[in-house]
Amino acid sequence: MAAITVARFNGDMNSDWHSEHRLTPHAPMAERVRWHIQHAEKCACRPIPRDVQDAMAQRGSEETAGARS
Ligand SMILES: [Zn+2]
Repeated sequence: MAAITVARFNGDMNSDWHSEHRLTPHAPMAERVRWHIQHAEKCACRPIPRDVQDAMAQRGSEETAGARS
């Protein structure tokens, strides 16, 4: 029976990383973006939320535009 509990997150959730990188519920968007970028590299337990994806796209284009001018 114990194996069922383990199998639910087996291979997908990097609980070591999560215990070291906690995202507070009311973290500012910049913080959430940073967290999700790192999270996507280290863990695949959940997708990046739409609003965070939008913020990433905005930030990315702003940084690119600034670097080119
Ligand atoms: Zn995760």
